[in-house]
Parts: sequence; structure tokens; C-alpha cells
Amino acid sequence: MKYVLWALLLYLGWRWYLSKKSPPSSPPQEASAATEEAPEAGASTEKMVSCAHCGIHLPISESVQGTGALHFCSDEHRLRHSGH
Ligand SMILES: [Zn+2]
Repeated sequence: MKYVLWALLLYLGWRWYLSKKSPPSSPPQEASAATEEAPEAGASTEKMVSCAHCGIHLPISESVQGTGALHFCSDEHRLRHSGH
């Protein structure tokens, strides 16, 4: 009966040794993921326009479209620039 216990201990020890020797962690995929395009770079490439009245720069999505190709930082500057 002793040998069965020893065999069980050896078996568990061997299993433990194998798990320590080859951990189930995946191969280094973090390096390949880092080489992909950073999403921040794409977000910061929004077209910048300058207010035709005060000259401040702002994203085109936050600008106020004036007459022609003019952009303004606010509706107030758009009205002031139109000659009032
Ligand atoms: Zn302005």
C-alpha cells in the first residue's frame, strides 16, 4: 500500500513540475499589439480651422460655419464678422 501513496506523490509532483516548466501563458502577443496604430493618433487628426474673427484655432467639428469657407469659434464672432 505504501507504493501506491509514493506513486501518487510522484505523479502529483510530476504534474506540478510540468506546470511550472511550461506555464500555459500565451506567447508574447503584447509586442505585436503595440505596433498597431494608436487610436489616439487618429482622433487627433481632426481638421483644425481658425476663427476668421479672432484667429483662435479649434476643431472643425466645434466651429461655426460662416459664409463661404469661413469658420468661427462661436456664433457671436460669426455675427460680428458679418459687419455689425
Ligand atoms: Zn473667434
